[in-house]
Amino acid sequence: MVDFCEKCGTLIMGKAGEDIKCSSCGHTAKATTSMSLSQKVDKKKELEVLGDESETEVYPLADAQCERCGHDKAYFWSKQMIAGDEPETQFYKCEKCSHQWRDYM
Ligand SMILES: [Zn+2]
Ligand SMILES: [Zn+2]
Repeated sequence: MVDFCEKCGTLIMGKAGEDIKCSSCGHTAKATTSMSLSQKVDKKKELEVLGDESETEVYPLADAQCERCGHDKAYFWSKQMIAGDEPETQFYKCEKCSHQWRDYM
């Protein structure tokens, strides 16, 4: 806070809610802020937790030809097989007929 010494008029600064001692005349000014001690308690800032992006069912489209209907666009995603030492498997799902197939990378 910023205040003026009531004795000599010198500009004095200090923390809100605390007494301020004038550097010029030594007069101690009572904090004049309207804040009471109970109000002074810092409000804990709630950290805004941005919700995790929920997993969407929308996969990117790839140029892949469906063997069932011949459509040339399919959604794709990859998945590591449980064993871990197996190659990553690419899955496709036909945009048109929802036919699914896999492809080993
Ligand atoms: Zn003063
Ligand atoms: Zn298809």
